[in-house]
Amino acid sequence: SIEAAATTTGTPTHCAYCGLQCAMTLTGSTAADLTVSPRRFPTNRGGLCQKGWTSAELLRTPGRLTTPLVRRDGQLVPTTWDDALTVVADGMREAQQNRGRDAVALFGGGGLTNEKAYQLGRFARVALRTSQIDYNGRWCMSSAAAAGIRCFGLDRGLPFPVTDIGSAHAVLLLGANPAETMPPFLTHLVRAADHGGLMVADPRLTPTAAKALDGGGLHLALRPGTDAALALGLVHLAVTEGHADRTYVEQRTTGFDELWAVAAQWLPERVERVTGVAVTTLREVVRTLARARDTERGAYVLSARGGEQHASGTDTVTAFIALALVLGLPGNPGSGFGTVTGQGNGQGGREHGQKADQLPGYRRIDDPAARAHVARVWGVDPDDLPGPGRSAFELLDALGTESGPSVLMVHGSNPVVSAPEAGRVTERLRALDLLVVCDFVLSETAAIADVVLPVLQWAEEEGTLTNLEGRVLRRRAALAPPDGCRGELEIWAGLASRLGCPVLFATDPREVFDELRRASAGGPADYSAVTWERLDAGESLHWPCTTERPQGTPRLFLDRFATPDGRARFVAVDHQGPAEPVDADHPLVATTGRVLQHYQSGAQTRLVAELTDAAGVMFVQVHPDTAAAAGLADGDRADVVSRRGRTTAQVRLDDDMRPDVVFLPFHWAGDGAANALTNAALDPTSRMPEFKACAVRLEARP
Ligand code: SF4
Repeated sequence: SIEAAATTTGTPTHCAYCGLQCAMTLTGSTAADLTVSPRRFPTNRGGLCQKGWTSAELLRTPGRLTTPLVRRDGQLVPTTWDDALTVVADGMREAQQNRGRDAVALFGGGGLTNEKAYQLGRFARVALRTSQIDYNGRWCMSSAAAAGIRCFGLDRGLPFPVTDIGSAHAVLLLGANPAETMPPFLTHLVRAADHGGLMVADPRLTPTAAKALDGGGLHLALRPGTDAALALGLVHLAVTEGHADRTYVEQRTTGFDELWAVAAQWLPERVERVTGVAVTTLREVVRTLARARDTERGAYVLSARGGEQHASGTDTVTAFIALALVLGLPGNPGSGFGTVTGQGNGQGGREHGQKADQLPGYRRIDDPAARAHVARVWGVDPDDLPGPGRSAFELLDALGTESGPSVLMVHGSNPVVSAPEAGRVTERLRALDLLVVCDFVLSETAAIADVVLPVLQWAEEEGTLTNLEGRVLRRRAALAPPDGCRGELEIWAGLASRLGCPVLFATDPREVFDELRRASAGGPADYSAVTWERLDAGESLHWPCTTERPQGTPRLFLDRFATPDGRARFVAVDHQGPAEPVDADHPLVATTGRVLQHYQSGAQTRLVAELTDAAGVMFVQVHPDTAAAAGLADGDRADVVSRRGRTTAQVRLDDDMRPDVVFLPFHWAGDGAANALTNAALDPTSRMPEFKACAVRLEARP
């Protein structure tokens, strides 16, 4: 029993923010006196980051909404729940009557509990019968998920417990900066760092990369968007320098020859030319991983958003999986390949049906057997279930157009700030006949909505989440819901009944979880033996968890991969580079990311004084020579200009930046919105936009 539910005083739960889902205990009975203390759990080992420590501030934020708002005469004005839900239901009904079922769209979030992610998908397919549903996780893990399914037959971010990494002497991190994004994760990297085996591929010298160097490890300061070339070069060196595990490749994989036909072209010198990473460093990476493997001290390759958020993100992750496979790491105890999930319920959020192409249990919506199973659980005819809809950006980009939805309901997301080409997306949102936003504060997206529905927050609701290891966790309410707020389950039930849907929508999360378990049974993410009671009793269960495997599956792929023949697949992919080239007008590459104090669009963390005191200003990180060439000094205000927009930021000089790259955090809105610049070039497989590379110039502000 890992979850100490019955033995702690206070309410044991998990952090409101990221995918590490650190364990914490909440003490107090009102929002005013609630305190947070860390709780020991394998993922966080008793630690929290500054965001977790200050998370109770969200519960007492002065801007908390407790009344539905409806726009009348241009103003958002308070109204009753009955009126607000009637406005929404009438708007949805009218749009569907006039323009068909797909006239109504839903947009979800990777932070929603499992029950909400599940019920949102069910509400779309059963009550509205629209295909137009997707969520912001499309912009987070979709490339890694697509590559995992392509190569392993299954996507679970870490197919092993995160604590396994703690024993490893070599870890290669691709585009991950846990020192800022999830600091307690660093405890799992200590051994690798102490043995000089922590290696970080990132255009910036991040705090994580600095930690690697401090321990004698490596920082691979690659050009943004050249990650796949790096991976192929490492595969090349692993093979030509005798580090490939030929027995593993022969017995546990297919497709090596096809992959090698590409990787053979990636001679180290060519890789150095393209990526900017020295041949000696490339060689050292491969040797370090192989040495740890050969001495059975553990070697891991872990990817994150830096390599994934590209127009070729799926192929990039596929290339890094090829590196792990050629070294024989996946499916071997103590070694492996994994991806580090970002959003709070990033894993669970992508399993239960809020994706455009998916049904619960991580099933494909175009699979007839999956449709028949889920339709049976839902009590509907499979032929009545809609097919796949548009992906997140394509959905938002179609809003208010002749062929696109005219009504959108948003949950757990703030696309005005977080969408790529945010200016264009905001125009589309404004073109809607009806924009409905469910949030607990007036986010930037809520501020332009026609109806705003005030919902519950993390410490006011019961539910389950699934963390980055596929481990199912209980979220518990420490506070009674504030007067005037409602949970999303209640909102969907109210709308379904107003829309005349004959199928009932449960409002009790426990009841919804029971249905979710049945809907997931037999699917890739099978929760059928994970019961609410077992979670409450403190059991720690990784999916798949079934009657045949009642203790769950902490480690996947030990005997076989989830492909038809049980073997992992090499897939022949090649380097493509960023979709948008630099030129004389836009000579720099902008890359985006996070800072320690903020989370996602900042809609929550910008409410916390301690966090904004520490990091309250939008900045652009620039090499001094680059700044000087634009006439800028440290602390100056500058415009960063792309082909799509401009953002204003304070110049922060950094000797360690590549001179051809600038970095912008994406937590700020308005004039300081990084996503005003980003490029929505989409990965053809995952439909991930290219957040991590776009061409820009710097301009001094008059
Ligand atoms: Fe842990 Fe992430 Fe919360 Fe920080 S934000 S306390 S790392 S779950």
